[in-house]
Amino acid sequence: MPETSEHSAAAGHRFDTVLIANRGEIAVRIQRACRELGLKTVAICSEADREAPYGSTADSFLCIGPSSAAKSYLNQDAILLAARLAGAGAIHPGYGFLSENAAFADAVEKAGLIFIGPTASSIAIMGDKISAKRAMMAAGVPCVPGPDTALPDDPSTIERIALEIGYPVIIKAAGGGGGRGMRVVPKADLLHEAIALTREEARKAFGSPSLYMEKFLEHPRHIEIQVICDDHGNALWLGHRDCSMQRRHQKVVEEAPAAGIAPDIIQPVGMACVQACLQIGYRGVGTFEFLYEDGAFYFIEMNTRLQVEHPVTEMTSGVDIVQAQIRVAQGHVLDLNQGDVTCEGHSFECRINAEDPETFLPSAGVVTHLALPTGPGIRVDTHIHAGYKVSPYYDSLIAKLIVHAPTRAEAMTRMREALAGTEVEGISTNIPFLRALFEDGAFAQGETDIHYLEQWLKLRRAA
Ligand code: ADP
Repeated sequence: MPETSEHSAAAGHRFDTVLIANRGEIAVRIQRACRELGLKTVAICSEADREAPYGSTADSFLCIGPSSAAKSYLNQDAILLAARLAGAGAIHPGYGFLSENAAFADAVEKAGLIFIGPTASSIAIMGDKISAKRAMMAAGVPCVPGPDTALPDDPSTIERIALEIGYPVIIKAAGGGGGRGMRVVPKADLLHEAIALTREEARKAFGSPSLYMEKFLEHPRHIEIQVICDDHGNALWLGHRDCSMQRRHQKVVEEAPAAGIAPDIIQPVGMACVQACLQIGYRGVGTFEFLYEDGAFYFIEMNTRLQVEHPVTEMTSGVDIVQAQIRVAQGHVLDLNQGDVTCEGHSFECRINAEDPETFLPSAGVVTHLALPTGPGIRVDTHIHAGYKVSPYYDSLIAKLIVHAPTRAEAMTRMREALAGTEVEGISTNIPFLRALFEDGAFAQGETDIHYLEQWLKLRRAA
């Protein structure tokens, strides 16, 4: 991005060193973006990650605690102390861990550092799915039918709400995340039990019993819109992604753009997201998640952070989302206009996980052999190498395989080639499962819904 006098004048929050409060492939990705922007980096690790390759390429590398994430990557005091010791002026939280923790964003700013993300109050509003829904309805973003208030205790009022929405309904925890804290209710006689179970789960897992109810859409696709906003009243959307290939509400394969959605249908939704950002004073990158069914979009939640699947948008839009995120945190004016954003070709991302391809149970151990694909339109985001020890403490994501090609069909072919050229030995991975999925006819056709993958797995098991 060119440095102009306008940009320099607008830059209010200068920092030259970034602490990356994360691990794995995203720590590598952020470190690269920082270096390309001429910034110094501070890598942190738990005891389990002492040998992490991004430690030796960072300007400083500090071990901040034991292997358990609660005592290291989630330990706010230890991270702030590391930032102070290493002279960092900003903290990038990556995804997961503390990335959507409003109290942490607040503590970072109170410590006189820049949090590379939205303000604590934006995180808090969007982190509560009920207040997010309310803010989106107020901004004119289409939402799933159902009230934008928490469910009351009174059983008869709850029954009335469900009848008004119409069965099937879904009960969701206001503080839920990671695909947890949700329960589908197909008919009235299962309503109260579902509420009691979800409330208990929500209390235990998210520290709040607050629930809400909405229509359960039976055959939707998961479509999301990537946004980026600066601190000067500029907001853009960078196109859309389809993340319908899910197992247990967790994304497995993502693509951009979403297939078969006409520009005149998605355009107003993208612009509504931009308007919503301006209305809530949003800063940084974010994703609006929608369910899409019978030609209509329904907002479900906003992620106030960089997402795992951001590369498919980088491949199609040509925008380096991580660099842009860091620059807006520095106070720069976005140097793109909406008219400059043109998405080209098609991109897929496969999440390569250290897990059994049949049972999906995590697989830890040493990678004894690693071969990664190369060639035009192929990108691999990873932190592993031959000899790397996959520890059992964290998420099983070990690499992201990303391809880009002019058309969806060509991108699928390229992904088949890339998967064929990927070899990981010493641990189990989901590569055989991904190879089989990319041979599937319905997936090749496109426009499969969020239940497709689970049904496909069931049929494969039965065969
Ligand atoms: P989380 O924050 O846990 O990811 P989301 O609200 O984003 O929860 O929902 C995760 C997934 O659950 C969606 O991608 C979709 O598959 C399913 N889901 C959520 N809400 C509904 C709904 N109203 N109808 C049908 N499926 C839903």
